[in-house]
Amino acid sequence: MTAVIRAVDVPAAVADDASTVVPAIAGASFRDAWRELLSLPSVRSVMADSLRGETGDGVVENAVAVIEGLGRAGVSAGLCYALTSQVFGIQWPLSASTRKPLEPYVDGLVDGSLILCHALTEETGGSDPLSMRTAATATDGGYRIDGRKAYVTAAPEADVILTFARTDEARHPFALSSFLIPADRAGVTRSDPFAKTALTAVPMGAIDFDGVAVTDADLVAAEGSGLAFLSSTTTWERALLMSYALGGMHATIERVVAWLRDREQFGRSLGANPLVASHVADLATIRYRVRTLVYDMARRIDAGDTPLSALSTDAAQVKISCAHDLLTFETTAAPLFGARSVIADSGYAMDTTSAIAASIYAGTNDLLRMSIARDLGLPVAN
Ligand SMILES: Cc1cc2nc3c(=O)[nH]c(=O)nc-3n(C[C@H](O)[C@H](O)[C@H](O)COP(=O)(O)OP(=O)(O)OC[C@H]3O[C@@H](n4cnc5c(N)ncnc54)[C@H](O)[C@@H]3O)c2cc1C
Repeated sequence: MTAVIRAVDVPAAVADDASTVVPAIAGASFRDAWRELLSLPSVRSVMADSLRGETGDGVVENAVAVIEGLGRAGVSAGLCYALTSQVFGIQWPLSASTRKPLEPYVDGLVDGSLILCHALTEETGGSDPLSMRTAATATDGGYRIDGRKAYVTAAPEADVILTFARTDEARHPFALSSFLIPADRAGVTRSDPFAKTALTAVPMGAIDFDGVAVTDADLVAAEGSGLAFLSSTTTWERALLMSYALGGMHATIERVVAWLRDREQFGRSLGANPLVASHVADLATIRYRVRTLVYDMARRIDAGDTPLSALSTDAAQVKISCAHDLLTFETTAAPLFGARSVIADSGYAMDTTSAIAASIYAGTNDLLRMSIARDLGLPVAN
């Protein structure tokens, strides 16, 4: 287990370290950028920790801090998102499971030569997993998977795919199963990247499964436990995915302050205007709130006092709050830079579309609201 050095400011130390790879990452392909990122010892140790699947001793908190440091250094939101999603949404839950299905891939995942994706969504069944059409039909030696997943982060580059398929036609909680499948298995086709407008540094695409032969060994957990396993990946994601934005918020506040101090309008520094200054205070307050919520979840997972399943409602609340906050943050900061906020190479461009995406992925905010209300005792159905 990585020794977490609590005396040092981990995000600041990582930001310092990561500044050496930021120039090589800028303009590189996703795969090359990923390898650059994985050349950093701090990132490799997060990979190794997540692939052991253990929590405690501050390892989850350390992972959040490392990701925050990358964002502070200027690693793009898309790359930070891809890392956060792979570490928390795939590696930790898979490695914590009894079968430890990622064990054969550990070396390649730690050195960055292998990339994972989490393929759940379908054109016909985004918010409603039980309506998925991808089916694993029983055969003599296992199953045959047919179907198509869409809007999957990193799909066009992924080497190994975590996916979900029906093993029962009826609609009930045990109808789905989860599989881990190498992308070079016969019958698997990854699409070209979609031309997406948010988190552009990580590709998104579709995956077709055309008579893909899988065996029991490819099952992540027992047949029929796909929905239960999905609830562990989504709890991890909802609790911690917004780590990806922490460093970017920090960097934006620094940029805003420097800009407002130098920029003169009406014969004085823009930052001397109380209305303008109050917006900066709002940015700091939002960042403080998001940081507090995300680190609190990391510490609770590390503490291990509460089983992950009992954290799912809190994780949903954190996800909704942070998604709202991120959007408010970006739309508060953008006008402070004036026209430069919409000019790509101005150094002040703001990315509100990625913030909008936060209310969609890992469970849309509205569907999470309903599950929170259900948890409170309301008879609300989707
Ligand atoms: C940046 C990004 C990354 C993503 N990465 C992945 C990934 O790696 N893997 C993956 O599998 N998927 C991924 N997705 C897809 C994401 O999980 C889905 O977009 C999401 O689950 C919503 O599904 P949908 O797009 O089909 O919307 P729909 O399910 O069609 O929903 C559209 C709208 O209707 C609302 N709605 C639906 N049903 C109800 C209801 N009963 N009551 C009230 N409102 C309802 C929803 O809240 C939403 O606002 C990603 C999406 C984004 C934006």
